[in-house]
Amino acid sequence: MINPLPYIKRANDHGYAIPHFNIHNLDNMRAAVESAKKLGSPVILAATPKTIAFSGLECLIAIANSLEKIHNIPVAFHLDHHTDVDSIMKGIDMGIKSVMIDASKHDFEKNVEMTKKIVDYAKGKDVCVEAEIGIIGGVEDNINVAEEDARYSVPEDVVKFAKLTGVDLVAPSFGTAHGIYKKKPILKTEILTEIKKLDSSLLLVLHGGSGLDDEQFIESIQKGVSKVNIGTELKKPMVDGIRNFWKEKPNEYDPRFYVQAGVDNLKKTIEQKINLLGSSFTV
Ligand SMILES: [Zn+2]
Repeated sequence: MINPLPYIKRANDHGYAIPHFNIHNLDNMRAAVESAKKLGSPVILAATPKTIAFSGLECLIAIANSLEKIHNIPVAFHLDHHTDVDSIMKGIDMGIKSVMIDASKHDFEKNVEMTKKIVDYAKGKDVCVEAEIGIIGGVEDNINVAEEDARYSVPEDVVKFAKLTGVDLVAPSFGTAHGIYKKKPILKTEILTEIKKLDSSLLLVLHGGSGLDDEQFIESIQKGVSKVNIGTELKKPMVDGIRNFWKEKPNEYDPRFYVQAGVDNLKKTIEQKINLLGSSFTV
């Protein structure tokens, strides 16, 4: 498992973005890594606390390590939207090199304090730390923010937050939401431009990438995003693949066949996203 930071920095310098895919088990991890291998892209496999409760952290780490070794491409394993400082520290002790502390529901000072705790703990351990500021709407695990309550980040606050905490990556709120969009989101990408004007080296993450159209992805990357998180949008292709398989072969109950049909269909979406983000053939 790699620290993805050098890859994200390179993406920032060259105007593309590194894909972060939310995974749950061997099947979608395999789909992500096999697609990344085919397209020569680094890949971040991200697990929320709920996913870890579902599959077990040790199992997920072992799978990520094995897939990286088998396919010989840069694979990062990322703790996504972790709100508990202790569980992140435990993950770092287990060798995880990419973590997100999400203290965005707290006020600015508390967010700084919690984020700084993780940054300090990660120091000297070759770990990339991400944090969130402003409130990104939608549902991420148990954190549910009504879209109208999502708050846009103030560019000055984002830069101040990064300076005070020393965090590597910041996810600002600029109109994206987690989960499925009820209507097409209106992105305020000028927030990204403003942040970059204030600090061009600050690395920015797009959360809530599912359901954005291709132009919105491209515009966000052009304006300064260098890591893109995609989760919800990967769930349907897997099920669709299995459903279509069963339509043709309703009596087939061997998982090696129906699960593979889901994986194959999921790979199409993943490959399309990697190409869209521009990280193909960069490793
Ligand atoms: Zn997120």
